[in-house]
Amino acid sequence: MDVLPAFWRLSGRTVLLIGAGEAAARKLRFLQRAGAGVRLFPMGETPHPDVAAALAAGAADGTVRRCDRPVCAADARDAALAIVAVEDEIDARAAVAVLRAARTPVNAVDRPQLCDFLFPAIVDRSPIVIGISSGGAAPVLARRVRAQIESLLPAGLGRLAAFADRFREAVKAMVPTGSGRKRFWEDFFDGAAAAAVLNGDEARGREATLKLLNARAAAAPPTGRVFLVGAGPGDPDLLTLKALQAMQRADVVLYDALIGPQILDYVRRDAERVPVGKRKGAHSLGQEAINALIVAHARAGRTVVRLKGGDPFLFGRGGEEQEACRAAGLDVEVVPGVTAALGAGAAFGLPLTHRDDAQTLSIVTGAAQGGAPALDWPALARPGQTVVVYMGVGAAERIAEALIAHGAPTDRPAAVIENATLPTQRVLTGALADLGRLVEEAQVSGPALLVIGEVVRRADPAALTQRAAAAPAPAAARAMAG
Ligand code: SAH
Repeated sequence: MDVLPAFWRLSGRTVLLIGAGEAAARKLRFLQRAGAGVRLFPMGETPHPDVAAALAAGAADGTVRRCDRPVCAADARDAALAIVAVEDEIDARAAVAVLRAARTPVNAVDRPQLCDFLFPAIVDRSPIVIGISSGGAAPVLARRVRAQIESLLPAGLGRLAAFADRFREAVKAMVPTGSGRKRFWEDFFDGAAAAAVLNGDEARGREATLKLLNARAAAAPPTGRVFLVGAGPGDPDLLTLKALQAMQRADVVLYDALIGPQILDYVRRDAERVPVGKRKGAHSLGQEAINALIVAHARAGRTVVRLKGGDPFLFGRGGEEQEACRAAGLDVEVVPGVTAALGAGAAFGLPLTHRDDAQTLSIVTGAAQGGAPALDWPALARPGQTVVVYMGVGAAERIAEALIAHGAPTDRPAAVIENATLPTQRVLTGALADLGRLVEEAQVSGPALLVIGEVVRRADPAALTQRAAAAPAPAAARAMAG
């Protein structure tokens, strides 16, 4: 982060504005909205019509005053900030030099290298204000981000924030604990009260808020709640909105080794993050211990997010965690995620079912103690289906042998897909009989799936060659051609 976003109180303060053209007019509007008094130095520029109008109105109430001389050190003495918006390069540099010497923070419009502070693109739903900066690198991109955010935020957001503010003291008085208040506000913003206010019906909003508040004040101290959240296969863009909401509410996040830092970035800033990672072979915490940890945090009144790769109910032991929560009498909500097989299929244009090739999709685990995993091999060897094996890299050769022994043709297409949906993703394709060698030569180190079936031939050839070029392992290119 090259710049620190901060929000400056300007009400009743003076800001120096150098220049009177269009750029100055734009800044003047924001300064006036923020309640600043403005001293304007036109530096010989003809005032933009908006500036002229503000000067005329400001002459009456003293909010905008004009100085027809260059800015000097004495002007800076009582100024909070200065903005240099004058066109002329020499005038601009001279003004910046004077202001710098007087230690007044300066923004020089369109001259990023002269700026002490930058103006963000602004989304104004006061009192909610959002500033977006690209640190001067791509202002147009910052404005596009602003447009996206604008379109996401309900128009009544400012009204809602102001409404909530009016109840703050009452909530503080009636709900004694910090965690209780947080829970109250979450329910408030999720519930009927907020919906009514956003719809412009403040009377109904007030009624619903009082009802919620009275119920909360009468109730026993809240216990926490648990979300079992699927974080998808790795690409943060594949998080569901519901996952994101839970992650934003969390007091504590217990996460797996498969959860990358890009995903953790979406967790609420001040939530506690606890890795409970289970990596192949090296269990850092047993399942019992994880269950106990979830229950202990929730019993302490916290909102617990158990964040798991893919989907929590697919080879994620989410079922056991849910049972532990239920046994402890805790609320538990399951948030599904995009499972690795779906992420991998999409990433490589590989349809998992196909009218002509695969009417069945089997999702199986390859985890085994020693030999081949205990699976229904005659069923899995049959044609007309796709078999996706999770946790199967270590047993790839034995899996291929078992399928062939039960009648699968040796040349049935197979793929190994590693780190699907992440920038490091790779796919290797070949014949079933070569699956063991494929895995070995590829030196798979990330999470990987085996995909077996005719549909492998349908993977997007462009995606295959593109990944081949990017693939680090020397065997990859050859395997790809197979
Ligand atoms: N609940 C998870 C699966 C957890 S089991 C889900 O629904 O996806 C762990 C196995 O998932 C790994 O051994 C690997 O086979 C698979 N896996 C998880 N993420 C993957 C990814 N990004 N690419 C390929 N395989 C992945």
